[in-house]
Amino acid sequence: QLERPADCINRESTPNFAVLCNMMDRLRSEKANKRFDTLKRFMDVWRLKVGNDLYPLIRLLLPDRDRERPVYNLKEQMMAKCYIEVLGLDKSSDAAQRLQNWKQPVEGQGENSSGDFARVCFHIIQARSTVEEGRLSVEAINLILDQLARGRLKQNQIVPILRRVNEQCTPTEQEWLIRIILKDLRIQIREKGIFNCFHPDANALFNATNIELFRCFLPQLCYRSPTSSHEVIAKLVGGPDNKFIMEEKLDGERIQLHIRNSGAEWFYCSRKAKDYTYLYGSHVGEGSLTQFISGVFNDNVHNIILDGEMMVWDPALEKYLAFGSLKTAALDRIYDENSPRPCFKVFDILYLNGHCLTGKRLSERKTLLKNHIFKDLDMFRGRIELVNEEEGRTGTDIRNMLERILEQKGEGMVVKKADSRYVTNSRDADWIKVKPEYADQMGENFDLLVLGEFSDLVLSDPQADGGAKVAAQASSRVCSSAFVCPKKTMVPASVPCKRLSRFAWSYLARFKTFASVGSGMNYADYEWILKNHKDDWKPFDRSNPPYWLEMGATGVDDKPDVYINPEKSFVIEVKASEIVVAAGGYGVGYTLRFPRCRFIYWDRQSRTNSSGEEHKDRDMWNCLSFDEFTVLMQQPKKR
Ligand code: ATP
Repeated sequence: QLERPADCINRESTPNFAVLCNMMDRLRSEKANKRFDTLKRFMDVWRLKVGNDLYPLIRLLLPDRDRERPVYNLKEQMMAKCYIEVLGLDKSSDAAQRLQNWKQPVEGQGENSSGDFARVCFHIIQARSTVEEGRLSVEAINLILDQLARGRLKQNQIVPILRRVNEQCTPTEQEWLIRIILKDLRIQIREKGIFNCFHPDANALFNATNIELFRCFLPQLCYRSPTSSHEVIAKLVGGPDNKFIMEEKLDGERIQLHIRNSGAEWFYCSRKAKDYTYLYGSHVGEGSLTQFISGVFNDNVHNIILDGEMMVWDPALEKYLAFGSLKTAALDRIYDENSPRPCFKVFDILYLNGHCLTGKRLSERKTLLKNHIFKDLDMFRGRIELVNEEEGRTGTDIRNMLERILEQKGEGMVVKKADSRYVTNSRDADWIKVKPEYADQMGENFDLLVLGEFSDLVLSDPQADGGAKVAAQASSRVCSSAFVCPKKTMVPASVPCKRLSRFAWSYLARFKTFASVGSGMNYADYEWILKNHKDDWKPFDRSNPPYWLEMGATGVDDKPDVYINPEKSFVIEVKASEIVVAAGGYGVGYTLRFPRCRFIYWDRQSRTNSSGEEHKDRDMWNCLSFDEFTVLMQQPKKR
């Protein structure tokens, strides 16, 4: 936590605010490799000339971390009103309108029209200001900020303060002051960088002490995988023994749960610091969650902070519902045992009985979480659970878990370094999110005819499920224009797809199952299917499948619950990362890895997809026979 050290030095000697503004201007315009040096030099000079207390400086550089100063409650709209008064602008004047509608771009005004409130203020102040040299010191600016943060000030209390600022500060200084108030500095150097300039250990120390009970913190986030190679990801997160932790990436809302006073007081807040305690319950016996889980903790847990994802569990369907239904579930005051309810999936512990745990290794935190915190988690299933987690060592481990997650229509996974510390407000390679679409660069597109659907298809309740499973298949000439057509020329990992640039399935009057697609459709897609094909589905009898359908001998994913006749069906564009052998699993003998529906084509001849994109050459694709396809698949891979 940013706090004033006890041995405060003479603050009168702090430099002019203009000097700091000058340095921040440089940070904004300088190349990344120079910024660190610039700030470090500034801090060194400060130490020499002012002393070792850098608190007045750092709290201005990291305004969102300043806990000593309460919130300003001063956003753009209020500031615009105040400046209109301070500058004596006519409310209907262009300048006043510009201040109030600062988000709107103004033609021909370049950076002035960027939707940057502080910049807009600068231009308007500059045209009216006579101050050429600022007179306030850094400490004086801190005192002004203290005044502005004194409770919820009314406009008539803020205006005199800003009037003094306007009389004593240049337009540039006022722009920087506004940025500090809005906590949006845009100085192109991150928190970690600022701390590193201060001291090599500052970041670690800050991180180990900045988590406090009942105070929101910015959680650790996930780094988007820099590569689609699972092997490379495994190397990035693997420790000396190659081990790492793999967790499901849950699609709910990030929530931190704080409990103090031996379980008497509860506090829930989101990643964006929104307080949700009113939904989930602030005391034992209250809310849509607290009252159901207060008995889960061991008696020796007196205060704790847990990090996790809030989900919605439907006990009747035995599955998690779409995140959108979360608030309804939480607000639903009928605590019926069978209705959907919030379920907190915990993946980390950050504080326990007065000790901040962020400095401990993830593996240690996990051990604590699994063995010492809860009584009997099974009894609280569907209310509070630990995230599904596995230990991994190789890229294959990542791929296998991802496949399992996608089969259950999950979103993806997060792989975490087992020996990493918890770093608030960070997004680095200690936690890497792995999703199938990250493999898009090397993916292939296919147009597939939909032949069947699984009954967990949520035609009646599209939101209740992450996606429909569609047994899709390439068509024959009978259907005239359904084909498989990889459009991209990337080489997938295992087969020479590059060479399959143009082909379609054989001109046989039969169909073979090829893939089942469980993700990628949106609500509108479900609605469209529901509206247009409601009467076309027929029950699928496994012992007596339609004569035109050839399935895998052993697979279950190609035995849908309902099927649709090819002439009634529609085509979906599917993206997949590669084609893999699926002997017995599908009629074709191959299937797609990580398939996701990208679009629906409303009918088989359509050239316009569900996103309104037109594919002009769609009916010009050539055909490749099924036999040719098989031959190609069996050839050794060429790069
Ligand atoms: P995306 O747009 O890819 O879904 P995002 O906006 O959710 O990303 P990221 O920083 O990329 O944000 O991912 C972090 C988020 O992922 C967290 O805020 C959290 O809500 C969510 N999440 C889900 N499961 C996990 C998990 N097991 N570990 C960490 N974060 C998780």
